[in-house]
Amino acid sequence: MPTCLITGVTGQDGAYLSQLLLQQGYRVVGLLRRSASSDVVGERLRWLGIIDDVELVDGNLVDLSSLIRVLQTYQPDEIYNLGAQSFVAASWNQPLLTGQVTGLGAANLLEAIRIVRPEARYYQASSSEMFGRVREPRQNEATPFYPRSPYAIAKLYAHWMTVNHRESFAMHASSGILFNHESPLRGIEFVTRKVTDGVARIKLGLAKELALGNLEAQRDWGHARDYVRAMWLMLQQDKPDDYVVATGRTTTIREFCQLAFSYVGLDYRDHVVSRRDLLRPAEVDVLLGDASKARERLGWQPTITLEEMITEMVEVDLTRHRTRLRA
Ligand code: GDP
Repeated sequence: MPTCLITGVTGQDGAYLSQLLLQQGYRVVGLLRRSASSDVVGERLRWLGIIDDVELVDGNLVDLSSLIRVLQTYQPDEIYNLGAQSFVAASWNQPLLTGQVTGLGAANLLEAIRIVRPEARYYQASSSEMFGRVREPRQNEATPFYPRSPYAIAKLYAHWMTVNHRESFAMHASSGILFNHESPLRGIEFVTRKVTDGVARIKLGLAKELALGNLEAQRDWGHARDYVRAMWLMLQQDKPDDYVVATGRTTTIREFCQLAFSYVGLDYRDHVVSRRDLLRPAEVDVLLGDASKARERLGWQPTITLEEMITEMVEVDLTRHRTRLRA
């Protein structure tokens, strides 16, 4: 039975990846950062019904010694680094913490692997945010980067450290440049979940208005369940490499609102307001990925459409609020 180690195991992608790898017969070990609010920590794993199947172990990306010990204990065959301070807007308020966790955290993990377990395969969760102020209308692996937030800058450092460990030490280290991916397990602070949660609350009479920031930004949104499959496929290849993972369709926040509100028979224009204080200091206006390489080399393609994803997300949020109302 192969063993995998997942950092960020309690997040959206960590939960779906755990589910996929358990189905494939892996022993799944998840790195858990100690925090006072640990009662809600397993929420997503619980929702997927796998909380008892994932082995959670204490450790922290900013503590190299903890990483070394975990690798020594579990000797994982595959390591997925999904742990990060992952919210772009928060990265302007905590830029140094973001650098330490999202950037240096990856370097710590790569170094721990190099010391303890150099034969293990490594996946780095890179981000389309690294393209930032885009240099080409469709972004692929050859598109130059232009990060626009402390988060994107930290991710860029982690990306290049991954490439460098591959080239310097022949490590099987791959970087997945994933475009935005969402699901009912997406954190409420991200715009898609904020919208579907808002739709549910407004539909049930719990709220009237939904305040957002920039409605004209465009994102290439896929479903997290499809995207974690791409991560796993990257580590099954003989050679490590970098891959863009995207749907090739881009949509404005406004259009996302229109789709989500109209699904429950509402007009978003009656409820959504754009507020200046929710605008970002620097914006990434548009992202649109070209995943040809992933399609050709990994045989990967998305299976869930934006409309299907919005339906699933709104339905789950409706059920959640209805259950709460009845309680
Ligand atoms: P990101 O692409 O990783 O930053 O994912 P987000 O879901 O946080 O943001 C996607 C886009 O939605 C960005 O261009 C935001 O500026 C825009 N946006 C507009 N209103 C909001 C809002 O209220 N919350 C968030 N998180 N993003 C918003």
